[in-house]
Amino acid sequence: MIINKIKVKEIITKSNLPVCDYSVNPYVGCQHACKYCYACFMKRFTGHNDDWGTFVDVKYWDKIKNPQKYNGKELFLCSVTDPYQPCEEEYQRTKILLEELKGSGAKLSISTKSDLILRDLELIKSFPNARVSWSINTLDEDFKNDMDKGVSIERRFNAMKIFHDAGVRTTCFISPIFPGITDVKAIIEMAEDKCNLIWLENLNLRGTFKPVIISYIKQTRPELYPLYDEIYNKGSNLYWQELDADLQKFASEKGLEYKTNDDSFLKPFEAKPVIVNYFYHSKIKKSAKKS
Ligand code: SF4
Repeated sequence: MIINKIKVKEIITKSNLPVCDYSVNPYVGCQHACKYCYACFMKRFTGHNDDWGTFVDVKYWDKIKNPQKYNGKELFLCSVTDPYQPCEEEYQRTKILLEELKGSGAKLSISTKSDLILRDLELIKSFPNARVSWSINTLDEDFKNDMDKGVSIERRFNAMKIFHDAGVRTTCFISPIFPGITDVKAIIEMAEDKCNLIWLENLNLRGTFKPVIISYIKQTRPELYPLYDEIYNKGSNLYWQELDADLQKFASEKGLEYKTNDDSFLKPFEAKPVIVNYFYHSKIKKSAKKS
């Protein structure tokens, strides 16, 4: 792993993501090295030639001068890295950032594939309406190991349960859903008593990782290639429409709320998880950009 320490002028930047006011990325690069990582475009922006997942720039910044400025604002960690990737254990840049923002009234939303976040449970609890989400797209640890270097699915669920029981809003982010591979219903059943929100997002293949995933499917699950060809080369939406309808029925049988492209992430803690489908998120992104 190539680790560089870098000095940055600002650590909190305004965001045009529909879910937050600011995004925060204490690192450039990500040791989790997910094969489908959309953030790998950061290589171009930051002048890295090494493979995604093999380098991390550790950011240092001057102490945040006026943390109160973020009172009531939605801060998202992280849009292009994982705030609790393994090097956080040593460098603690995420923890230091949270300590600088403690008491500011900022609303935190944290997304991770790690359980290192358990270290900061008390700190995160001190923020109003904090939310933590774990990305889980399979219960098959072998497939997970093929796709990412994050901690096991079992450890992610365990961390989710501990945060949930501690009264922190938690999300099971079922993403990306791999057609024919991700068993969404089985994941919902595992997550049901550990979170108050379940987000669904389909696998969106574009850029440099499209050939990587297609070649993985051809080599390991050739029987699924015709389906991937239909969706990702011919543009068919049928699989997602059928899955959407099937999940709506499943949710209704289980007595769970099911919504599409909803803003439930803004709502307070709910006893039963609400399922929110973001299959058509490319449409939301376009409309968010227009507005
Ligand atoms: S954890 Fe997130 S940022 Fe890190 S490699 Fe995976 S998808 Fe990319």
